Amino acid sequence: MNKLDSELVAGILESEGFEQVSVPECADIVLFNTCSVREHAEDRFFSNLGEFRRAKQRRPELVIGVLGCTAERLAEDIIRRMPHVDFVCGPGRLGLIGRIIKGNIDENPPQPPFGKGGKSEQCLTGFAPGDCVTAARAPRTGRVRAFVSAMRGCNCGCTYCVVPFVRGPERSRPAGEILAEINELERAGVREVTILGQSIDRYGRDLEPRCDLADLLRSVGKESGLERIRFVTSSPRGITPKLLEAMAGVPSVCEALHMPAQSGSDGILKAMKRPYTSAQYIAVVAEAQKHMPAIELSSDFIVGFPGETDEDFEATLRLMEETRFLQCFIFKYSPREGTAAAALADDVPAGIKAERHARLLEAQNRITLEKHEALVGGKVEVLAEGPSRKDPSRFAGRTRQNHIVIFDPGRTKPGDLVVITIENCTALSLYGTPQPTRNY
Ligand code: SAH
Repeated sequence: MNKLDSELVAGILESEGFEQVSVPECADIVLFNTCSVREHAEDRFFSNLGEFRRAKQRRPELVIGVLGCTAERLAEDIIRRMPHVDFVCGPGRLGLIGRIIKGNIDENPPQPPFGKGGKSEQCLTGFAPGDCVTAARAPRTGRVRAFVSAMRGCNCGCTYCVVPFVRGPERSRPAGEILAEINELERAGVREVTILGQSIDRYGRDLEPRCDLADLLRSVGKESGLERIRFVTSSPRGITPKLLEAMAGVPSVCEALHMPAQSGSDGILKAMKRPYTSAQYIAVVAEAQKHMPAIELSSDFIVGFPGETDEDFEATLRLMEETRFLQCFIFKYSPREGTAAAALADDVPAGIKAERHARLLEAQNRITLEKHEALVGGKVEVLAEGPSRKDPSRFAGRTRQNHIVIFDPGRTKPGDLVVITIENCTALSLYGTPQPTRNY
């Protein structure tokens, strides 16, 4: 979601005549997009921001803006503690970024739109209906894959999570608007779209007429020429038979499901206010596998939630072993101000959190490696994306299930679908050679 927001902001500014530079030293405007989901993300941002204090002293005309969730959460704090920051702008107000920047660089600035939901002159926060960056036209070209936001905000009350506080309540975009954006991306060469929402399975509840994710997938499948459609993030409760039928029935919807479990312990799930037990989670996985035998699952896990015992953690390991995810993101719990869990003692010592984190990571890496090894010698279909980041002489791409595949491109162009024979693997990627095709 944050990557998409950064791209949209860049797109808006480019369409207003601004230009991106490759190093901050050459920039007249520096914008930080921030994440506040964990303490670590915020700490890193504050240390990066601190480094710009001297640059502002040397070049007072430099405009420094802080965007995103930390801007929303700590707006006045940032302005008070960091005098080198010119403005902050929360995720609900990013659509106004062009006007905000002009207000900061023009000698006779247009009246800046501050103050509406803002806490002070330099703070633009809050969530005005319809004031959504996704409504802005932001050109995104030269890529094979793109994110498209289908809804913003979150109404789920997971006790550890700050997202509803910093991204506001759920707002779905009308399907027609999403389709128009997808069609525009297609014209620019995009072949795969990931539809985004904090709880994407809740899409459309607030729309009139009400619709749902299954309807959206069917219309994107029908009214776009996309090769692949994905969506994140889902909660097990939202994976209905209707949704699974749509996933299985729309050929461009990939056999991949990111469905964060967070924990395998029913006690911890309850304390997190996650609306399922570990048995229910496993039943949803089985149902998804019945509809799509080739499906691969992925998940997020939090270790060290308040009160997590060794037994709770063992239950998480068991869920991981039983489900055999292709990939998992594993986080150490950190209390977030204002959330219900922040009122509980953060009582799992840092050393135990680190140990549990390492054990889960190790288990997942082994499972991923085993899944990769099972594919060596076989063929997979890959959507070629372009030069691999680690080795630009080779290409990277993904399978429908989301395995990363690295290969010698030969005559492959970004956006081509290629059949790759897998020769080798690590826990991170598969390595192989494209099958020679005849129609060169
Ligand atoms: N709405 C999405 C994304 C939430 S943030 C969803 O439900 O998946 C992404 C992940 O960060 C979460 O899935 C969770 O695993 C992790 N996370 C959220 N709050 C956290 C906290 N306070 N401490 C550690 N990890 C956290």
